[in-house]
Amino acid sequence: MRGLLIVISGASGTGKGTVCKKLLDDLPQVAYSISATTRAPRPGEVDGKEYYFLSRDEFNAWIADEKFLEFAEVYGNFYGTPLNKIDERLNRGEDILLEIDVQGALNVKRKCPDGIYIFLLPPSLDELKRRIEGRGTESPESLQRRLSNAVAEIKVGLEYNYVVVNDSVDNAADQIKAILIAERCKVERNRDKFL
Ligand code: 5GP
Repeated sequence: MRGLLIVISGASGTGKGTVCKKLLDDLPQVAYSISATTRAPRPGEVDGKEYYFLSRDEFNAWIADEKFLEFAEVYGNFYGTPLNKIDERLNRGEDILLEIDVQGALNVKRKCPDGIYIFLLPPSLDELKRRIEGRGTESPESLQRRLSNAVAEIKVGLEYNYVVVNDSVDNAADQIKAILIAERCKVERNRDKFL
């Protein structure tokens, strides 16, 4: 069976990273798509692990070389999903997980309508603010910007196929695993079984 293209988005501080990490730990058949970004690495982030950290010039060269499935500007930095043979890998049966922003996800949805688009919500906006502050990585301006963007981004969640509330990492990951099981049972993914 062709692999699943799994796209997960959610406002900054929703806990996407933690939920995605749990999924990747629990589901060895799912490969993470490492994005490229022009933002500076946060402490502990490693080039080629969390992201490919590129200069603006390098990022522009990747755009010119058509190396991206999509790219978008998020909070003043550029982020892009490398094409990286995604289609071939899906055809080989590999599942691929993209953790990208709403603009990127909607662009991918237009190109790949058979993908699974999952929107992660925080339990509440207060909880979202608490989580971003608690992370301690954002300046006050960046915190404010991320919070007001979060409200706008959440509305875009209506364009996705599934919504999962991240009240706890285990619950959210379990719900996403259930979504993936149901998706694998869809008739349109199993047409060969009817011949
Ligand atoms: P952060 O700087 O906190 O790691 O990520 C900021 C935002 O950029 C998050 O919403 C994240 O999902 C998004 N992002 C990460 N990689 C990509 C990508 O390849 N493409 C797009 N469009 N957004 C991305």
